[in-house]
Amino acid sequence: MNSKFNLPNKVIFCNKCVMSNQRPSSIPEFKHTFNRKGAKYLNINSNGICDACNQSEVKKMIDWKKREKKLLNLLDKYRKSNGDYDCIVPGSGGKDSAYQSHILKYKYGMNPLLITWPQILYTENGLKN
Ligand SMILES: [Zn+2]
Repeated sequence: MNSKFNLPNKVIFCNKCVMSNQRPSSIPEFKHTFNRKGAKYLNINSNGICDACNQSEVKKMIDWKKREKKLLNLLDKYRKSNGDYDCIVPGSGGKDSAYQSHILKYKYGMNPLLITWPQILYTENGLKN
């Protein structure tokens, strides 16, 4: 039996988060065409755990205190006290860049400059809408 969109024929679910292997992975939605070759979907390993859940476990192994110390050393190197901008945050205006800027300013005493550029290449349909 051939599935549409090159989806895996057998539907399985992650034992931790119950996400299925039918979830498209790492490709913009508009590129997900009917006969797309090389389509990738959420990988679920032989233990029944998906890549996202595995990555979540990897994050638990990171020494966050050590990383913050490295960050502080880097920030100390570039921090200015004369009111000039001392770091750049690429920002789309969303919550991620706003949060990063807030933390840089109020937790680490930096004076960040948020920059943006045309982040979206508009599709023909998007422009019509
Ligand atoms: Zn999972």
